[in-house]
Amino acid sequence: MPSRLSPEIEAAVRARIAYFRDLGVFDFYRRADAAVGMTTETDPESAASAQLETEIVTGISAAALPETPTPMPSAPALSVLTEAAKSVAPNDRAAALQALREEIGDCTRCALAQGRHNLVFGDGDPNARLMFIGEGPGADEDAQGLPFVGRAGQLLNNMITAMGLRRDQVYIANIVKCRPPQNRVPEPIEANTCSPFLFRQIDIIRPEVIVALGSTAATYLLGAKSPLGALRGRIHQARGSKLIVTYHPAFLLRDPRQKKEAWADLQIAMKELGLKAPKAGGQ
Ligand code: SF4
Repeated sequence: MPSRLSPEIEAAVRARIAYFRDLGVFDFYRRADAAVGMTTETDPESAASAQLETEIVTGISAAALPETPTPMPSAPALSVLTEAAKSVAPNDRAAALQALREEIGDCTRCALAQGRHNLVFGDGDPNARLMFIGEGPGADEDAQGLPFVGRAGQLLNNMITAMGLRRDQVYIANIVKCRPPQNRVPEPIEANTCSPFLFRQIDIIRPEVIVALGSTAATYLLGAKSPLGALRGRIHQARGSKLIVTYHPAFLLRDPRQKKEAWADLQIAMKELGLKAPKAGGQ
């Protein structure tokens, strides 16, 4: 029987892997002796930790790995994208978003439906010039049905305020609309199934600038996986909008030293939008 980790060590391993994922490191390798078989001298907690790490990184057990790599984001097949080419007049955008929400309905198109309490569609101004896109709902978001309402959401609110905006002036959504178990990274099949809805939201809102929060959002908006560090600091294009990539607020909570870097990224967005940061003291 494999050893189980204590809750503290399991949480620490998950946090470490999430830390590397936010830095754009997706692939982890274990030494062959650790992978093939543990001797009786092997620390069982270390062995279980290595197994857990593999399962977290891949999202599935090693035995279930497909022989060929899982494809990266591909052309969405859902009918929802057939409307993508049509622009929606500003006065019609709220209704168009509502119609899209109704089309999604009580969605069971991917496995993430099984564990969710609430589908998190998105939130904000249908005519927003700026859109933030994260990875997926966490526990707080799943409970409330709103994006970015936990600690990471509070930090995002602070980031928005620092940009001289209010939260209700931007639009916030995620790559997947249902919470992945244990906040794991969405599987490609899940992200590819759900992201067409997000793409339609972008097509309706037509933001001038999108800020991708973390590597998963950047991956599915750009259609290619690259280290976060290679994507930051410049302007990309996504569905007709300028795309800027920065750290996920959850990562910034774990490593506040990177807030300065994130602020530099947000200043690129501000420059594109012609925004000036409010003076210190809230004036
Ligand atoms: S994550 Fe998206 S595709 Fe999957 S069940 Fe939820 S709404 Fe549907």
